[in-house]
Order: sequence, then C-alpha cells, then structure tokens
Amino acid sequence: MTEQLATNITWHEGEVSHAQRNQSLGQKGATLWMTGLSASGKSTIAVALEQVLLQQGKHAYRLDGDNIRHGLNKNLGFSAEDRAENIRRIGEVSKLFADAGILSIASFISPYTADRDLVRKLHEDAGVAFIEVYVDLPLEVAESRDPKGLYKKARAGEIKGFTGIDDPYEAPTNPELHLKTHEMSVEDSVRALLECLQDNNLLEA
Ligand code: ADP
Repeated sequence: MTEQLATNITWHEGEVSHAQRNQSLGQKGATLWMTGLSASGKSTIAVALEQVLLQQGKHAYRLDGDNIRHGLNKNLGFSAEDRAENIRRIGEVSKLFADAGILSIASFISPYTADRDLVRKLHEDAGVAFIEVYVDLPLEVAESRDPKGLYKKARAGEIKGFTGIDDPYEAPTNPELHLKTHEMSVEDSVRALLECLQDNNLLEA
C-alpha cells in the first residue's frame, strides 16, 4: 500500500452522490478492467466497445496503457515497482471516471494479481462497480500477432522484463468475464462485454 505522505489534509464531502450522477447520465459508472498479455486484443476490443457504447447513447471513455505512459505516467518504467505505481495511479483515475458516472474501459497488461486486487479494493471501498475482464490467449498466438514487433524484440533480448517472456503474467483466477481472443472475434468479445454490462445492470441508472 502506498504511504500517505501529506499531512493536515481533510476529505471535503460534496453534495452530489455517485447515485445521483448515475441517474443524471442514465447508466451506472463502472470500471471495465481489461487485463492480458500484450497483443491479446485489449486495446482493439476496448476501441470497438467504446464506439458501440457511444452509438447506444452511453458515456464511455478509454484509458489505454501506452497512452497513459505518454502523459500521466511518463515518469514510470517497467520495473515491478513502477508497474505497481502505474496500475495504482490508473486505478485511481479509472475510479474517478467511474464515480463520475462514466463506463471507464481500462486496458492495461496489469500482470500482477496484487496490483489488480488493489484496484478492485479501491473501487469496492468507494462503492463503485469493478468488472475484471481477462483478455486471454496462448502466448504463441500473441507472439504470432505481435502488432508492434515487441515480442520479436523481447526474444532478441532488446527489451528486458517483457511480460510472458522474461516477466510473469499472473492470470486472474476469478474474473467477471473471460474472453478467449484466439477463439472469439472482436465482435464476439464486444457482444460478451455488452451482455456482461447488461447482466450487471450497468446500462441503466
Ligand atoms: P493489446 O492491447 O492487448 O496489446 P492490441 O489490441 O494492441 O492488443 O493488438 C491485438 C492485435 O491482434 C491487433 O492487431 C488485432 O487486430 C489482432 N487480433 C486478431 N484477432 C483478434 C481478436 N479475435 N480479438 C482481438 N484482437 C485480434
């Protein structure tokens, strides 16, 4: 757990509740946390889902690993410590979006169970819905896709600590949704995600 450094700070309660914000948007804010190996399809599926949700008049926003590392988390690398801080910060940001009533779609490899569990707890403590989505496929399939050539570089030793090659991926044991992208098309995955949102009663206030 990250240490609280600031002192003399007091939480200032607002006058608008999460439920009221949900009501005004006609949906329930939630985080959809997409975890999985690089090239498993997290970003591709997130982009497609965001588009479908917006077409349905829902309010969704994508938080994407590489994009966040261009800004908010540009000062973090890929050590275990920096990965943990990367996920902690984005977990907090996603929780804020979700608390605001948005369907926040976060796509991050997030390889360590402890880091993902911490994000889940942040949401639970705030009374905000958290849906863990395991974007799964065999490593060989991820390597054969390799859209950014990263596995090739990792195999050549040009990238150290690459998840699945020389850094572990700890698969979720109890995700809310398990997508097997070597067996499901992008459209299948989007359909499954929409069903999951529906089943969890998140598409209405
Ligand atoms: P990640 O965000 O997990 O690193 P990306 O979405 O960037 O993965 O890359 C996944 C690649 O795999 C894309 O080039 C995508 O077009 C391709 N792909 C092939 N089949 C699928 C599928 N069934 N689901 C998702 N992506 C797929």
